Amino acid sequence: MGAKPMPVPDADSRRFWEGCREHRLQIERCADCKTARFPPAALCPHCRSSRSEWVAASGRGTVFSWIVVRHPVPKDMYAGEVPYVVALVELEEGVRMPTNIVGCAPDAIRAGMPVEVVFDDVSADITLPRFRPQVPS
Ligand SMILES: [Zn+2]
Repeated sequence: MGAKPMPVPDADSRRFWEGCREHRLQIERCADCKTARFPPAALCPHCRSSRSEWVAASGRGTVFSWIVVRHPVPKDMYAGEVPYVVALVELEEGVRMPTNIVGCAPDAIRAGMPVEVVFDDVSADITLPRFRPQVPS
């Protein structure tokens, strides 16, 4: 049984992963046209500016799309975790983030369902942002 693949922070994404480790969701946006982008990147895909800034995300969004994983691949690594949900969540800031939906039955997930971030400390270095159904306030 091998170790699960983990994100490897690079120069562009280091700040994002540092924020997650502190349980803060941060999104990079263009300092010129203010377009948010994910994943972090050196250039703005909208105006090509290399000036960027980081903003605190609300941590709220909606389910854009998802799949339910029922057959673990590789089998020995994920056998104890199926079924689990891999989703694209559209954040309030307008970017879509690949993630997992947790805290609800896979069959209960609906397109447009409001979700909020939860942080999962999977190792000493890496904390993964996952999303659960929003609790109505
Ligand atoms: Zn821009």
